[in-house]
Amino acid sequence: MDNIYDVLPKVLKVLRHPEIDAYHATKAEKAEAIRDELAHMRTMLVGRESAQEGEVLEEVCKGVLSRLQKSRKPYYRRVINATGIVLHTNMGRAVLPELAKEFVRSAIEGYSNLELEIETGRRGKRYGRILERICTITGAEAAIVVNNNAAATLLALHTLCPYKEAIISKGELVAVGDGFRVPNLMVCCGTVLREVGTTNQTLIVDYEQAICDQTGVLQKVYTSNYVIKGFHASVSISELVALGKKHGLPVISDLGSGCLSTKLDGVKATPAGEIAAGADVVTFSGDKLLGGPQCGVIIGKAEYIAAIKKNPLMRAMRLDKMTLAALDGTLIEYIDEERAMSNVPVLSMISASQEQLMEKAESLLLKIKQTGVDNAHIENIISSVGGGSMPGTDLDSFAVCFNKEGVYVEDIAAGLRRNEPPIISFIRNDQVALDPRTMTDAEIDETAFAVASVMQQYLPTN
Ligand SMILES: *Cc1c(COP(=O)(O)O)cnc(C)c1O
Repeated sequence: MDNIYDVLPKVLKVLRHPEIDAYHATKAEKAEAIRDELAHMRTMLVGRESAQEGEVLEEVCKGVLSRLQKSRKPYYRRVINATGIVLHTNMGRAVLPELAKEFVRSAIEGYSNLELEIETGRRGKRYGRILERICTITGAEAAIVVNNNAAATLLALHTLCPYKEAIISKGELVAVGDGFRVPNLMVCCGTVLREVGTTNQTLIVDYEQAICDQTGVLQKVYTSNYVIKGFHASVSISELVALGKKHGLPVISDLGSGCLSTKLDGVKATPAGEIAAGADVVTFSGDKLLGGPQCGVIIGKAEYIAAIKKNPLMRAMRLDKMTLAALDGTLIEYIDEERAMSNVPVLSMISASQEQLMEKAESLLLKIKQTGVDNAHIENIISSVGGGSMPGTDLDSFAVCFNKEGVYVEDIAAGLRRNEPPIISFIRNDQVALDPRTMTDAEIDETAFAVASVMQQYLPTN
C-alpha cells in the first residue's frame, strides 16, 4: 500500500452511510463528528502496514455515532474541583446547599406556584418569602433580587442616579473577572462617574469637594479581588453616610460578595454591617460568600427599594423559578447560624479546620498510594477563597502532590480532565496537585480511582 491514509473514507462517504444518514442530527453536527473521528482514526493508523477500507469505514461510522450520542449528554455537568478554590467562577462559583437542590427539583417537577397564592387561588407574589427573609437576616428595611450583582448595580444607579453624577473613588474603579469593569457598567445607565482621589488615597474631603448640583449619589465599591498595601487610605461607609446625610444624597454600597454569616473569620464588610452603618442601598452577589445561586441582592431603605422595584428595567432582570427556589433553599439555612456554617458548602469549605483538611488529604493520599503512585505525598499550600471574595485572606491548605518521571504533568492533568466526571487539578512545582478542601468524601474516592486509571497507562508493560 502506497499510503496507509488512503483507506480513510471521504467525509461525504461517511455522511451517506445508511446509519449516519438515518441518525437525527444536523448536517453540521454530523460533519464535525466525522472530521473529529477521521482525525482520531488517522492517529490510529500511524505505523500500520495495511488496513481494510471497508473495515475502516465501519469503524469510523461506529466512532461517529458514539461522538454524536455523546453530544446529546448534558453539556453542563458536575466536575470535581480539586483546586481548593472555593468560589471558582469557571466552575460555577458556589456549590449549592442540599436544601437548595431539593427545592429546585420541587419547583421544576411540573407547574409551580411561582406567582400563585395557593390559599386564595389568586395571583401571588413572585418573590414570596424570600425578601422578608433577606430583611430579617440583614436588618434592612426592604429588599429585591435580580439576575446578578452586575444587574443590581445597574438597576440601583439607573433608578437613583440617571443622567447625574455618581461620586466614586479612583481607588474603587475595579475590574471583576475577565473583562468586566464595574465602571464601564455604571455608565451604561446614563450615570456620569465623577472620579475623586487617587488610586491609593481618597479622603472624605475629595468627595465633599466634588458635590454639586449634578450629584446623584455617593457610590462605594468594595475592591473584592485585590488589596492595596502600604500607603493607603479610603473612606469608610460610615463617613460616606454622614456626608450623604449632610447633603441629602443617598449612598450606594457595592459589596461584591455578601456574606450573611457573622461566624466566618476574615470578612471585612457584610450586608448587615453596611445597613447598620446607614448605607441607603447595598448590592451583592448571591453566588459568592452567600453560597447560593447566581443572583444579585439589593437591600436598603424602603423608599429607594420601592423606586427600584418600579423601574421598568426590573422586568428585564427578574429571576426565574429555578433560581428563586435555590435561593429560598439557601436562605432557609441562615435561620440558624450554626446550621448555615455546616450546611452551606461555601461556608463549611472556607471554615474547615486544619484537622479536617489533613484528614481528607490523608484519606486521598492513602487511596492514591494504594493504586501504586508511590511518590504521592502531602504538601502545605496556601490557597484563596476566589470568586471576588476575601482578597488578601490566605487559606492554609494541604495538597496531595505526585508526578511520574518521564511524563509531562500537563498530560496527567489533561487525563484527569477527561475522566467522567472531569477532575480539575492544578500544577505545583512540576507535580499534579489535588486540594481536597473543595471535594466531598465521595469525590475523594472518585478522584483516587481516576488517578489510578490515568497512571495505569504509564506503568511499565511486562
Ligand atoms: C463580583 C462583583 C460584581 C459582579 O457580581 P456578579 O454577581 O458576578 O454580577 C460587581 N461588583 C463587585 C465589587 C464584585 O465583587
